[in-house]
Amino acid sequence: MSIWGTGATVDADSDIISKRGIGRRPITLEDEETALSNSSAISYLDRDRRLHELETRAFDCLVVGGGITGAGIAREAARRGLSVALVEADDFASGTSGRSSKLIHGGLRYLAQGDVKLVRDTARERKEVRRETPHLAEPVWMILPSSSKISHLKFSAAVTAYEKLGEVAPTERHRSWGRDELEEHEPALDRDRYAYACVYREYTTDDARLVFANLRAAVQAGAQVANRLRVESFPVEEGRICGAVAVCAWTGQKVQIRARAVVNAAGPWVTRVRDFEAPDSSRGLHLSKGIHVVLPKSILPVRNTVVLGTSDRRSTFVVPRGEVVYVGTTDTSWPGGPDYWPSITRADIDYLMAPLSDYFHTERISAEDCLATWSGLRPLLAQGNKNPTEISRRDEIWEGETGLISIAGGKLTGYRKMARSVLALLFEKLGRRPVEPAEDARLPGGDFDGDIDRMAADLSQRMEIESMVANRLVRLYGSESEEVLSGGAGPLAPGAPVLEGEVDWAIVYEEAACLEDFIYRRSRAAYYEPQWCDAILEAAARRMGGLLGWSSERERAEVESVRSRRHADLDFGVEDRRDS
Ligand code: FAD
Repeated sequence: MSIWGTGATVDADSDIISKRGIGRRPITLEDEETALSNSSAISYLDRDRRLHELETRAFDCLVVGGGITGAGIAREAARRGLSVALVEADDFASGTSGRSSKLIHGGLRYLAQGDVKLVRDTARERKEVRRETPHLAEPVWMILPSSSKISHLKFSAAVTAYEKLGEVAPTERHRSWGRDELEEHEPALDRDRYAYACVYREYTTDDARLVFANLRAAVQAGAQVANRLRVESFPVEEGRICGAVAVCAWTGQKVQIRARAVVNAAGPWVTRVRDFEAPDSSRGLHLSKGIHVVLPKSILPVRNTVVLGTSDRRSTFVVPRGEVVYVGTTDTSWPGGPDYWPSITRADIDYLMAPLSDYFHTERISAEDCLATWSGLRPLLAQGNKNPTEISRRDEIWEGETGLISIAGGKLTGYRKMARSVLALLFEKLGRRPVEPAEDARLPGGDFDGDIDRMAADLSQRMEIESMVANRLVRLYGSESEEVLSGGAGPLAPGAPVLEGEVDWAIVYEEAACLEDFIYRRSRAAYYEPQWCDAILEAAARRMGGLLGWSSERERAEVESVRSRRHADLDFGVEDRRDS
């Protein structure tokens, strides 16, 4: 049965959504009711009602920021019985949480820096993230190549310590590969230079989809959430913060939200949001830029995630995903303010490309080979004059003078733990006895036995779709893939792996409202299927437009906007790296 029921028709005469505005809903009542009967839906079609609820209810807690930190806090608060609202200024996962290396990892390199607690906590969290959301924490073997026996032994010793801290099960512990195993499992690696490898377990994810899974779990547990609502001030009563005033990016409407406690989880913007409470607060962030490049697998045919050493004694990752491979990341100070699209320079690209020809049997790979890029800012806790690579990735909670709770720093991998720390403080502030969640729930899409390859094979057979398409779908939507497909199993362009039903799903379950939302943060086509982007843009815009009542001018404008965004992603400018 389709998520749309029987007849998803567009009412051409309805008061159509104006350029980025909300009008009457162009979809039939039956469709809407079918979609909204799933209580985890964050439907754009239902936005008026949600904004109304945000304005009329009084919440225990308001979370500012729809990245992984905010989404995790909202979910943990809602499942502990608090009434929760979350607002996001731009799109969900449009900040750092859509721009990471997409690894659920403990960060082996932080061990070398002596950050044992951080490594232990995040290494243990990996298992929990996998348990709750197996489609978004897929175990992979990471290959750490060495050119000499001595460095191989050093790496193996470090990995052994890492595994002890992370309480890794014996079957999951590292192994050593020599030339023969490398030839069999990673033939692209230059074995004449790198004849040894320590191979250990980490997990790959999709960061933005992890955010959506947490937000929907929060909604399922009773939270109210909305994107494109920017907090601009905090009202205060009797010296205490009592909510926020937020502005809708589509209409300019001001929404007043009442809450007994407010949590600032604004990532790189955390100090900006704190300034609404008390300007120029002393504690600060050190923003550090990290970029990734996406290359065709045909020129870098790796089979596993490979860790490469760089000239400045850092490491970068080469991660295969579908038909592409992404390489990242850099770590350079970003002296400007927070930014959704930090610029990428030619030097950033060269830095990532340099080790590739050293490690792999490959022709020289250059900037011209890039299919896509992304760039994000780490919200690191400032530590004197340390350079970004030396700064700890730990998190910290700050309390403001009217009671604003801000959480800063941290890593994607540690989001559950960060949420639990905030919750402990929240219960104290609310004068309530801490509650543990009643059930040990999975996140939406995570309801299966963890065998993702088998799930893909079953889906491919049952729904008669190519295995490549099924493999892609289950890694984005997990056990909900079949429901996504029920909205439309046809490709958005002949042969494309991105399907029509994904557009519908994005609007009805994940509050997508423009083409960029779909291409960049829901389907992730901008990063994992860049070779298909040009072909699918028009069909995706037509389908979105059909459901949201866009005019043909609006459809064209949406396509143009994403095209120029993609063009900008591949325009590397000429200036040098800002820092080293
Ligand atoms: P964000 O995701 O930036 O979310 C903050 C949100 O607040 C934004 O969406 C923003 O729009 C919103 N906001 C701002 N102002 C307002 C306002 N006034 N009103 C409402 N909303 C507002 N960690 C890992 O564990 N594994 C990795 O592989 C990894 N790789 C990384 C690679 C790079 C290049 C980078 C930059 C980071 C990486 N990290 C990794 C770290 C991880 O990505 C971040 O720690 C995490 O995503 C931060 O999430 P956040 O929710 O705190 O911030």
